[in-house]
Amino acid sequence: MTSAEVSRILVHQDKAIGVVSAKDPDFERRHPGRSTVEAVTLVPYDWFTSWSETKWKRRGLEYEAFKAQLSARLQTALEQYVPQLAGKIDYTELSTPLSTQHFMNCRHGEAYGLSATPERFQTRVLRPKTPIRNLYLTGQDIVTLGVAGAMLGGVVTASYLLRRNITADLSKRATRRKSVKPVLGDESCEPESALV
Ligand SMILES: Cc1cc2nc3c(=O)[nH]c(=O)nc-3n(C[C@H](O)[C@H](O)[C@H](O)COP(=O)(O)OP(=O)(O)OC[C@H]3O[C@@H](n4cnc5c(N)ncnc54)[C@H](O)[C@@H]3O)c2cc1C
Repeated sequence: MTSAEVSRILVHQDKAIGVVSAKDPDFERRHPGRSTVEAVTLVPYDWFTSWSETKWKRRGLEYEAFKAQLSARLQTALEQYVPQLAGKIDYTELSTPLSTQHFMNCRHGEAYGLSATPERFQTRVLRPKTPIRNLYLTGQDIVTLGVAGAMLGGVVTASYLLRRNITADLSKRATRRKSVKPVLGDESCEPESALV
């Protein structure tokens, strides 16, 4: 993988940037003037296959150098969107598909689960009940990718096991929580959204 190829993918491909510390109402008090930012992009698993048999933290200098290269490119891309970050970053850490493979047991580091293809959504296999007695499926792969999909997967499996549609229970809870004040002092934040 040449530097230009890495740059092309990291600068032009889809990215997501999140200011994780902004979700913690107590963060500013505990760490005044500081924040944490997460930048995520897509990378092919092929880039990492030569290290797939290595162990976490013992993948070797070449891997560390490649990570440093990726990290620098991602930071450059990040600073294009948030230029005020330039020169203000004290610490960075990069995880790769091998990290996701190690920590989450995803076969090719696919943090968002199965590919979002029509076949995946049409299959009748991805549902709570399996042919194995007392083995049930849940999480993003039985509904759709991401945290919201994983949460809904929990609702679907719980509904199956309890033999009732628990979305109605959740909806009732949401109605009860209408009296809760919006968090983070954001008046535009609807109380219902605090449920999840
Ligand atoms: C860096 C990063 C940032 C992300 N950001 C976002 C975001 O901003 N928004 C969003 O919607 N999604 C995001 N995601 C994706 C999100 O984390 C997943 O969609 C979500 O966690 C899927 O939840 P899940 O419960 O289905 O699976 P997981 O969270 O993967 O949980 C599966 C669990 O099963 C465990 N496990 C696996 N195999 C075994 C086994 N054989 N035995 C026992 N335990 C096992 C794993 O260790 C893991 O704890 C992000 C992911 C990553 C890695």
